[in-house]
Formats: sequence, structure tokens, C-alpha cells
Amino acid sequence: METTRRGIEPFVGGARIARLVVRERRLRWPVPPGLEARVAGTRVVAVERRAKYLLLPLARGRAAAGTLLLHLGMSGSLRVVPATTPPQKHDHLDLVLAGGHCLRLRDPRRFGCLLLIEGDPRAHPLLCDLGPEPLGAEFDGALLATRARGRAVAVKSFLMDGAIVVGVGNIYANEALWRAGIDPRRAAGRVAPARCVALASAVQAVLREAIAKGGTTLRDFVQVDGATGYFRLELAVYDRAGAPGPRCGAPGRGARIGQRSSFFCTGCQR
Ligand SMILES: [Zn+2]
Repeated sequence: METTRRGIEPFVGGARIARLVVRERRLRWPVPPGLEARVAGTRVVAVERRAKYLLLPLARGRAAAGTLLLHLGMSGSLRVVPATTPPQKHDHLDLVLAGGHCLRLRDPRRFGCLLLIEGDPRAHPLLCDLGPEPLGAEFDGALLATRARGRAVAVKSFLMDGAIVVGVGNIYANEALWRAGIDPRRAAGRVAPARCVALASAVQAVLREAIAKGGTTLRDFVQVDGATGYFRLELAVYDRAGAPGPRCGAPGRGARIGQRSSFFCTGCQR
């Protein structure tokens, strides 16, 4: 989603919304009735992100006019196209901008959503229980160590829990644990504080690399949530069961942890 945010920001940030076109209201939550009238004529103040939610604070004149919250669900993608481009099947929403482009949502499985939040978006039920952003100032090894205390859950599941920290997907969790030398099956509460520091740094390094490598293909772009970042990241353990590890040469191993495919090095993760 960060790649998506960066991709659309040059087009959408500061732009005036000419109109909202809704072709299909039945998304994960229905597009609220009357939303078209409430957003028409507003200006997009900023293009922000919280976890996998895109947030567009709006203003009408100088007055705040709520925050559009957009989620891509499982299969959604956003692109910026000329508003005259004929919509295809599954192109459910167009946010038409005054300059003649539109931000178009395609979502074949309709698990995405578009809502308008009044007031502070951080207090909204979808956002208020989320842990900190991994690249934000609030996230560090001390926070991980505090939250891990006494927890018997596998450290990998812990790391992927959005109430602990948001945005650490399965591939990122596998790679970060390898970098930090931590066995993904280890109970979170049994990872020493110093190793939590190493883990937090590893998470941040993996995410920064993924963003840097996924963020190069913008312009008129199509992006299914985060996917390009994964494939360009150099993977040390993910999907490498049986292959010698790049650090110690011991074979990689696969396992299921919390229903998710997990990979680790049998030699250097403990
Ligand atoms: Zn190894």
C-alpha cells in the first residue's frame, strides 16, 4: 500500500474532486448513500496511509470535510487514468479529479471499501486498534520486548499481528527473522530484549528495501497491494526449503506456523 500511496500522490495530493462515480456499491461495506454529493467539489488535502488503508483528508474551502478511507481488500488495485477511459468489468469506483484524470478502483472480489470518516480517523473502529507503523518513530525493539513479555505465541505470528505492529506480511516476517537469527517458532516471550532490538531493525531494513525496490514503477501504474515489492526483494529463506542458506550454508526448512507458510535456516536461527 505504501507503493500505491507514493504512486498516486503526485496526481491526487492537492487535487480537487470533480465528482465520484460509483458503479457498484456492494463492496465489503456498502459505499454510503449520498457519498457522491459529500465529496464532490472538495479538495484532497493529503495522501496518507495507515496500515493497508489509504486516507484522503478532504477540505471544502478551508473547512475540513472528513477523510476518505479506501481499502483494496484482497484483489483490488488503483490506477490513475484519463477519466474518459472506458471502465472495464470490476472497475467499481472513479474519483474524478478536476484535471481530467481519475483514480479508478478495480476490485474483482469486492473485499475493498470506500468510506467517509468524520472527525479523527485514528479513532475510527477500523483503525483504532492497530499497532504502530513499523517505519514510524513509535516502533522499536523496546516496544517489541514489552509487548512480547509473557507471550507464548510463536514470534513469527506475534510479528504478523496487526495489534502489535502493522504491515509485516508473511514474506517480510520470514526474512526479518532470518536476518535477526531468530527461530520463527520460538515463543515471543522467550526472545531476549537485545534480540528484539535486532528483530525490530531487521523488520525496518527489509521493509525499506522492499519499498525502495517496489517503488520504481510509478507513472500510469497498476499495483496489486504490495506485490511488486515482494518479488524484487532478495529472499534469503522464503520459499527456499532444502536450499543452502546464504549465511551459514545449512539447509532451509519449511513449516506451518499460525496457518502461514514459514521458512527458516536450520543452522543459524535459534
Ligand atoms: Zn543459516
